[in-house]
Amino acid sequence: MDPDLTIVGAGLTGLTAAIEAAERGWGVVVTEAHSRPGGRARSLAGPYRANAGPHAIYVDGPWWTWLESRGLTPPIVEAPPHSGIVRAGGRLGPWPAELGKAIAALPARAPTEETFRAWLLRHTDAKTAEAIIGVAFIFTFDHDPGRLSAAFTRQGLHRALAGGARYVTGGWSTLVDLLAERAAVQWQQSALRAHCTGAIDPPGTTWHDRPAVNRNGTLSVATDQSAAPGLLAEVGIAAAQLAVQRLAETGKAGKATSEPAARQRPALPR
Ligand SMILES: Cc1cc2nc3c(=O)[nH]c(=O)nc-3n(C[C@H](O)[C@H](O)[C@H](O)COP(=O)(O)OP(=O)(O)OC[C@H]3O[C@@H](n4cnc5c(N)ncnc54)[C@H](O)[C@@H]3O)c2cc1C
Repeated sequence: MDPDLTIVGAGLTGLTAAIEAAERGWGVVVTEAHSRPGGRARSLAGPYRANAGPHAIYVDGPWWTWLESRGLTPPIVEAPPHSGIVRAGGRLGPWPAELGKAIAALPARAPTEETFRAWLLRHTDAKTAEAIIGVAFIFTFDHDPGRLSAAFTRQGLHRALAGGARYVTGGWSTLVDLLAERAAVQWQQSALRAHCTGAIDPPGTTWHDRPAVNRNGTLSVATDQSAAPGLLAEVGIAAAQLAVQRLAETGKAGKATSEPAARQRPALPR
């Protein structure tokens, strides 16, 4: 039987889309080039489990709320307070109190069009600005966070330091297992879908502008290759939710049935 929806990639984005679609009663097929779900959200085997991709999960964002409402939240821990050792003034040591004060004194919001460095220099001295830019390395993974949008980096700074960054017990594979189990869709393991890749946004557009992918009548929700480090998993997940919602609105995918086709199919491997 033809699926109502084909999702390319069983990363966090694809799994989220699969759950949203299955909740609408659609028959869903997920094709995944690798033998395991999770994509970049992968934890290495023990005894010391390391996350190969995402580390911090944010409990102050819409995705966490989405997980909570479905009983899908993984066990999490907070980083121990004062656990950070930083290199300041050429020396390793505890987080300098004056740096915390300087960050706390910054305005809560910053403009999108201005660079983070230019914005900081309007609010603090050059040395402190560079120290704050150094902190932003941690969550942007960028070689020079000072060149990034002030709005983006200011928000990231707040979320990383004062916001809801937590760490998944057992690594992100714990969460992937929960999502894969809930997705309960037909699983085409190690199936590379040809002529179809994750969406990369053209210059000047963002995931907000991205339509659901529609090829030859076979509907596909592509995974989000543009969700780079620094752009949290939330970005791709929001795109997936939007794509499924748009497909539902256009009536191009899914036929509501009393016995959802998705539930009759074999589940993803754990
Ligand atoms: C080093 C690093 C650190 C990060 N840290 C964080 C963090 O702390 N917090 C956070 O929220 N986010 C973080 N991120 C971002 C987060 O990892 C990604 O946003 C998220 O994992 C992307 O999920 P995705 O499903 O969109 O894409 P992916 O994880 O890339 O999954 C795409 C899947 O699609 C499959 N696929 C692609 N094309 C095809 C095809 N044609 N046919 C079949 N299968 C295909 C791939 O095999 C893959 O499994 C980090 C990323 C990296 C790399």
